[in-house]
Amino acid sequence: MNSKRSEPQTAASSYSRKPVDAHVHVVGTGSGGTGCWLRVSVWRRPMAALMLRHSGLPLTALRTGLDGLYISRLLEMVRSSSLSAVVLLAQDLARDEQGLPLRGGGAFYVPNEYVLRLAREHAEFLPAVSIHPGRPDALEELERCLAGGAVMMKCLPNCQNINCSDRRFTRFWERMAQAGLPLLAHTGGEYTLPVVRRDYSDPRTLTLPLECGVNVIAAHCATKAGLTDPEYFHIFAAMTRRFENLYGDNSAFTVPIRGRRVRECLGEPLVQRIIHGSDFPVPVFGHFAWLRGFVDWQTFRRWERHPNVLERDYQLKMAMGFPPDTFTRIWKLLRTPVSAGRQTSTEKPG
Ligand SMILES: [Zn+2]
Repeated sequence: MNSKRSEPQTAASSYSRKPVDAHVHVVGTGSGGTGCWLRVSVWRRPMAALMLRHSGLPLTALRTGLDGLYISRLLEMVRSSSLSAVVLLAQDLARDEQGLPLRGGGAFYVPNEYVLRLAREHAEFLPAVSIHPGRPDALEELERCLAGGAVMMKCLPNCQNINCSDRRFTRFWERMAQAGLPLLAHTGGEYTLPVVRRDYSDPRTLTLPLECGVNVIAAHCATKAGLTDPEYFHIFAAMTRRFENLYGDNSAFTVPIRGRRVRECLGEPLVQRIIHGSDFPVPVFGHFAWLRGFVDWQTFRRWERHPNVLERDYQLKMAMGFPPDTFTRIWKLLRTPVSAGRQTSTEKPG
């Protein structure tokens, strides 16, 4: 146990001015009994190999046991970076209309209990659980996760088949709002994972949780991931004017197509809603930011080959002009559990 975690009054109070990466995936093959699994289809294998190489992990880890190595590498990167912590994301299954696992169930799975445990063990990790609100035990799982110290909820509506605006989920969103648990939801196209419902890439599917009062972070600000994706960025930007509880993250803004919207995201008033995230282990490149003139040649050369990709991403985002608040804004949104099973300090009377 890390001594920093022994204080019951949350990481937020002591670290709230320090930078956080709010979008970091956990991946595992289940080695060491983590409960994770990973299915890499033949045509996604080169992408998986690239991600491992970028993370400084050997390709053999996929066969010999990835889980422990992945976490040690992450810890080592956070500790030697400008970041104080990273938000670790669990990953629920893709589910059908009844909330039962879809055949195939997605490309990877990370149990909530695993990220909650990692966060109890290491102060550098802040736990974001993942709950498909349509699963039969969604509310019970939400209570379990709140009691376990969850600070955020993550979902991918288009990959997990979640229509966030389905009225059946109203109670689920209301409970999240009451508990002060923010939602990080993938928006825009997706190419590293199989997509079940392309139309759920549209940020307008997030209307119901926003109306219920949940603080929502639209991952990637609904930018396109591929040339043929519909463009939802302007819809997201317009929604931030309607909903003061809507934010967007700049995760994967160093990859070619998503990075096109940096200038718009740096403009007022939208810049006040942007949150830093890397989308690790998605690779971080500086080439596109340099080619578009978002970073200069020296900055690009200095960070391009830096082995710590979390630091590389942080430095490139700083060089792009994201103001310091971008890197600490998440502290305002994260739930701050006082201690397991008790009412949270951000909880509103029900
Ligand atoms: Zn992601």
